[in-house]
Amino acid sequence: MNVVVVGAGIVGVCTAIELVKAGAKVTIVEAESPGGEQAASHGNGAWLSPASVVPMSMPGLWKKVPGYLLDRSGPLTIRWKSLPGLASWLLKFTLAGASISKVERTSRALNQLLRDAPHRHARLAEEAGLSHLIRQDGLLYAYPSKEAFADESLSWKLRKMNGVRWQEWDALKIKSKIPHLAPKYTFGAWVQDGAHCLNPEEYVRGLANYAVSLGADFIKGTVTKVDVKGNVHINGELLSTDKVVLACGIGSRVLAKMVGDDVPMRSERGYNVVIKKPEFELAFPVMPSDGRMANTSTNDGLRLSGQVELADEAAGPDWRRSDILLHHAAQTYPSLIGEKYDPATMTRWMGKRPSMSDGLPVISRSRASARIVYAFGHGHVGLAAAPKTAEIVCSIVMDRNAHPSYREFSVQRFFGNLNFNASIEKEPKLG
Ligand SMILES: Cc1cc2nc3c(=O)[nH]c(=O)nc-3n(C[C@H](O)[C@H](O)[C@H](O)COP(=O)(O)OP(=O)(O)OC[C@H]3O[C@@H](n4cnc5c(N)ncnc54)[C@H](O)[C@@H]3O)c2cc1C
Repeated sequence: MNVVVVGAGIVGVCTAIELVKAGAKVTIVEAESPGGEQAASHGNGAWLSPASVVPMSMPGLWKKVPGYLLDRSGPLTIRWKSLPGLASWLLKFTLAGASISKVERTSRALNQLLRDAPHRHARLAEEAGLSHLIRQDGLLYAYPSKEAFADESLSWKLRKMNGVRWQEWDALKIKSKIPHLAPKYTFGAWVQDGAHCLNPEEYVRGLANYAVSLGADFIKGTVTKVDVKGNVHINGELLSTDKVVLACGIGSRVLAKMVGDDVPMRSERGYNVVIKKPEFELAFPVMPSDGRMANTSTNDGLRLSGQVELADEAAGPDWRRSDILLHHAAQTYPSLIGEKYDPATMTRWMGKRPSMSDGLPVISRSRASARIVYAFGHGHVGLAAAPKTAEIVCSIVMDRNAHPSYREFSVQRFFGNLNFNASIEKEPKLG
């Protein structure tokens, strides 16, 4: 079977590897470079976290939206001008987290992709000769007090329900592990099964090379058109194939629309700042609860990443979002006080998380044809979720089984009355 995989971000490269191993003749088509700056996979927080089962949309979000529109320094911002174009997506996004039962359901679905993500990455990295890029040292959520932790009790209940394990640390224990953290963080939840990647770009590039070493072809080009017969137009040239996997992040939306699936996907733009030579290294990544950002020591330096900015697809970066990350970092690590963005010592980046309105990716065949298969919309968790996604995509492409238990990722959910509950209820009760 000939399969074209469109996109060489983390989802595309993991999918290509899985498909070649299953015996398919795979061609990867990528517009730029695997894991390059254009990809969300390039500059993310590098967390491989089974604890990322907490949806972004949680009960009460709607009350906060007006504040987000006014506050330019918070963790989430919406550009006024873009509001009309985003309103419908935003409404669906907010409704997706409107009740506890909804967020429980979403978190159970995410857990299917995330529960063994660190282990899957470690195995894949070893196979591809990239073990040096994956560290399984745990992840710390740091709080100024136990009360602040308790304020997020719903998030931790969801994690517990999904089998996430953590240790609760006091100020002394935190200090012994992360001495550079400000003393205001007196309570910590250390997720022992968490892992991280030391260089997501190098990892994605390495996995793309691994796919090629296993027999995949690589074409640098932009897919401008696909159709239900399996015709793929690359920079205007036609390639006919048996199956096409759309794994091109935010770019998947326009291609899915061409085959009849106008999906509710928008980009949640995120930012990072990397301090190239920080005075300290973190023993494991940290998420300070007040700054809402992932702090990760990578091979390139200390990466501060986060922020959600909702804006027009074509709008340029607003680098004030990176300054906010630096500002929070100075509150989190006193030795960074006074740091200002300086291109000699820092880099910064903006990337587009491909986010579905209901907080779950689309991993399914298209409605119109089994020839077109979707693997996009992973929002905040695509790095971690990619290996399991690839496994599911592979079984769909190879028609191994219909994967009834993954119907919650089907594109059909946006168009028909797919019985979502029926599939999720087959999952063991976790709580
Ligand atoms: C600031 C930030 C922090 C994050 N932190 C984390 C984290 O800590 N952990 C985590 O798990 N996730 C995190 N994420 C989310 C994660 O990065 C994404 O979910 C993931 O990278 C999506 O991968 P992808 O392969 O679907 O898309 P992408 O990485 O965007 O790759 C898509 C690729 O397709 C190519 N492409 C697009 N259109 C076409 C076309 N028409 N033809 C050919 N090629 C095309 C692009 O050039 C690109 O290379 C974060 C994201 C951001 C922005």
